[in-house]
This record gives sequence, C-alpha cells and structure tokens, in this order.
Amino acid sequence: ALRGIRLTHGFGATPVLRGADLVVHRGEVVAVTGPSGSGKSTLLHCLAGILRPDDGEVWLGADRIDGWSEARRTALRGSRLGFVFQFGQLLPELPAVENVALPLMLGGVRRGDAVARAAAWFPALGLDGLEQRRPGQLSGGQEQRVAIARALVTDPEVVFADEPTGALDTETGRVLVDLLIGLAARTGTGLVIVTHDADVAARCHRVIVLRDGRTDPAAVHAVVTGGPR
Ligand code: ATP
Ligand code: MG
Repeated sequence: ALRGIRLTHGFGATPVLRGADLVVHRGEVVAVTGPSGSGKSTLLHCLAGILRPDDGEVWLGADRIDGWSEARRTALRGSRLGFVFQFGQLLPELPAVENVALPLMLGGVRRGDAVARAAAWFPALGLDGLEQRRPGQLSGGQEQRVAIARALVTDPEVVFADEPTGALDTETGRVLVDLLIGLAARTGTGLVIVTHDADVAARCHRVIVLRDGRTDPAAVHAVVTGGPR
C-alpha cells in the first residue's frame, strides 16, 4: 500500500495542503476530485515523490519515502511508482516504443529486452503498429496511451494519473480511463486518478474529495467492498 498521512504543503506563504490523507492498496482504484486549485496535483506530487511535503509522511509499503533524497525519489518513479501527466510528456525525438522502454533502461534493463517488453504493451492499448511513430505523429489519445504504457511497463505498485484525459474529448477520455482501470485491475497495481468527470469517479472503488487542503477521513479509510464498477 501507499499511504500519505497528514500531508501539509504550501508554496511561499500560501498553504495548499493542510493535513491531507490518502491510502491506496494494490489493485485498488481511488479517484481524487475537488475544485480547481484545491491541491489535487500538489497532493499527487507529494505522494509520488515529485515534491517533498512540508510536513506529514509518505509510506510506500514499509519504506518512508518523504525524507528520501530527490535522486532516490526520482528513481522510484521509474520502478515502484508510475505517473501519467495531463499531457503525456513524451520525449518527442524518440519513437513511441522507446519512450515506453525508457524507464526500464534507466532501471538497468538491456536495450533489446526493454524494447521487447515495451512493445508487448502496444496491442493491449490499441497501439498495434504505432511502435515506431514519434509522439508528434500520434493523436492526443494515442499519445496518452503511450504515456500509460510507460507508467505501467515497470509493473509499479502504484500508478498516479493526474487528469490523464484533460486534453481529450469526453468520450475518448472515458474509453482511455476504462482502459487504465482495466489494466490496473489486471496487473494488480494501485491506481490514483484525478478527474473532474463524475462518471469516471463513479467507476472507482473510492472517491477522495479535496476541500480546503483536507481530505474526508471517512472516504480515505473506507473499507473496500467489491471491485471497480
Ligand atoms: P486543477 O484542477 O486546476 O489542476 P489542482 O487542484 O490540481 O487544480 P494544484 O495544482 O495542486 O491544484 O494547485 C493548488 C494551489 O497551489 C493553486 O492555488 C496553485 O496556484 C498553487 N500552486 C501550485 N503549484 C505552484 C507552484 N509551483 N508555485 C506556486 N504556487 C503553486
Ligand atoms: Mg491539477
């Protein structure tokens, strides 16, 4: 499980998180919602080790990671954690399959093996035949599918997706989220997804609402019954 406990974070004098909690277990899908500017991205960045929170704790399994050096936290994101950004953030000069292989290569997997493992994700994501395209030659939805493959390729314990469908039309976005939830269920990874779409939130195990920098304790610690809807 990944646990964020009493997370506090601000930028300059402005507090954004004021004691937010979030727990996600393997195989569990958690939605994070809340008004624009409420701190959803900040919360995900603290949980994923992109930001070091001002106060509070982040535990990944038995490891407390919030105090780790930036280098160690960054290394986590290509191994035990995956992150899908609102806009793919793919490297434009690399073919799609090499973008997906990159976290494996950074983790020490040999190039040939990494590319083979990356390519194996393409059919399940509806990307068959697009392996050698560069990001600029893909549609927005295809780019996000490549970003999802890149986040999943290392078999992480938890994947974070910060409005992964933000740049897509509603229907394309929902298909993409269905795909993401299905893959998370199949691989047993935990999934934390920021969304403004009530239909998407309704398909998750739990919905965490962020308000005034705090989360609702009842939702954070709710007992999970059943799978994603
Ligand atoms: P949205 O739904 O629009 O993506 P959000 O809930 O993700 O919003 P955050 O991006 O976490 O909100 O931002 C929370 C607050 O922190 C906002 O007021 C924002 O302006 C501020 N903020 C975020 N990042 C920084 C930064 N690097 N420097 C200063 N202020 C920041
Ligand atoms: Mg945001």
